[in-house]
Amino acid sequence: MKIFTFDTTLRDGTQGEAISFSVDDKLVIAQKLDDLGIDYIEGGWPGSNPKDEDFFKRAGELHLKHAKLTAFGSTRFAKNPVEEDRNVRKLIEAGTPVVSIFGKSWELHTRRALGITEEENLTLISDTVAYLKAHGKEVVYDAEHFFDGYTANPDFALRTLEAAQKSGAAVLCLCDTNGGTITGRLEEICAEVRKRFDGVLGIHTHNDSEVAVANALAAIEQGFTHVQGTMNGYGERCGNANLCSIIANLELKLGHTAIGAEKLAGLTAVARFIAELANLPMRRDQAYVGQSAFAHKGGIHVSAVLKDSATYEHVSPAAVGNHQRVLVSDLSGRGNVLYKLEQHGLAGRLTEDARRELLERIKQMEYEGYELEAAEGTFELLVREALNPGIHFFDVEGYEVSTRVNVSGSRSTATVNIKANDGVHSATATGHGPVNALDVCLRKCLSALYPRIADVRLTDYKVRVLEPKKGSAAKVRVLVEWSDHRKSWSTVGVSDNVIEASWSAMVDAIRLELMRLTEHDDSIEKAVEDYCWGV
Ligand SMILES: [Zn+2]
Repeated sequence: MKIFTFDTTLRDGTQGEAISFSVDDKLVIAQKLDDLGIDYIEGGWPGSNPKDEDFFKRAGELHLKHAKLTAFGSTRFAKNPVEEDRNVRKLIEAGTPVVSIFGKSWELHTRRALGITEEENLTLISDTVAYLKAHGKEVVYDAEHFFDGYTANPDFALRTLEAAQKSGAAVLCLCDTNGGTITGRLEEICAEVRKRFDGVLGIHTHNDSEVAVANALAAIEQGFTHVQGTMNGYGERCGNANLCSIIANLELKLGHTAIGAEKLAGLTAVARFIAELANLPMRRDQAYVGQSAFAHKGGIHVSAVLKDSATYEHVSPAAVGNHQRVLVSDLSGRGNVLYKLEQHGLAGRLTEDARRELLERIKQMEYEGYELEAAEGTFELLVREALNPGIHFFDVEGYEVSTRVNVSGSRSTATVNIKANDGVHSATATGHGPVNALDVCLRKCLSALYPRIADVRLTDYKVRVLEPKKGSAAKVRVLVEWSDHRKSWSTVGVSDNVIEASWSAMVDAIRLELMRLTEHDDSIEKAVEDYCWGV
């Protein structure tokens, strides 16, 4: 069955504590959601803030091929006639084909929050729905706190739905606004409502009990055909139902059509794009679209998944645009490393002894605190060194670095001694901090012999403390990202001296570049790119 998807990332999602989208961000996200095949995009609440108003003013810049843009608001204020209600007027001015409005379903809220009678509440709902409908809008009626309201007084809650439907609402959407309803109970209530109402029923759930997705699916199992949620589950408190998981489950598990199989393959990319714009790290363990969703680490799992991916994967990662990843780690058996070697097209070129030695080296490094999953550059260097024991570019004889700080500023100076094939090279340089000074020296020492290393530049640098209990004496892991215009890669260094860890990552990056320049092999490049993806 076709299930209509209603995305509220741009409205309910922005209620999330860490979420803030500019109007430009919102426009770009709306476009992405349309490309993904979402049916309704709720853009904001024009009556509540100027940013959302601005979004609807600029909505003409969008080229929506499929989705219907939706403006959100409330039923009219009790004291206002509908045609004079500012909020309702803003909804009409937003110029969207669809308007979603929320009304009260809970007696408690009606009496306490609004201070009006049941009859008055029903009139607010009818008036507002009918007025919007008369202005040519498709109206989605959001029954706020429906499940709590139904539990407190079912007749009261049902009458509000009746009022909305009779006045012309196209969708009656039941909201678990507080997110406190457990799935079994929610399903019972949905079944009751389904029995009593024809037409499109929708579900809007929050994740306060960690069952928002399960609740949305339970409603759909009861015949609901409109589902609301946000990308990556963004939203107030514990978030909204995660639309990514809902869509994937509908398409891959429940035999429904939400966005269709072809668009589904774009799900991961859109979810990550939105996380990027939200400036939030994507949760690695997020179902379907997270980087770890199809990552295998344990040795037995890996050897099984290599024989048949269905052994440890519930769906094919490609179906949602994700990838299988096999992690190299001390937990793994030989399976992981062999997989990587095969992936790099290198397995056949290593002797049995070289393979074993490489595995031991990796295990030792992981034990010391290296994280090779995130540093494919360091891993690739290990493999290339194992493959080419005869190739050696340079040795580091020693280095020295100092930083002097006084009233006029700070100054870092480094000296580096390198033994290369043509003799010993020394360089002294100052830089913006010790790492930069060392970087400048290393390049000075090697640039005459290997001019191409000028292309390699540092693009990101992260430090993680490995032994927090030791305070400033703790071992740290430095992860550095590099680029040479063609591609990027990461290297890692571990030490209780942050400069030494940085230096080690830096030397690895330069050695790897030299290795790559010496032995260019397209199949290796492709395999590595595949491996680098998403790490
Ligand atoms: Zn909500």
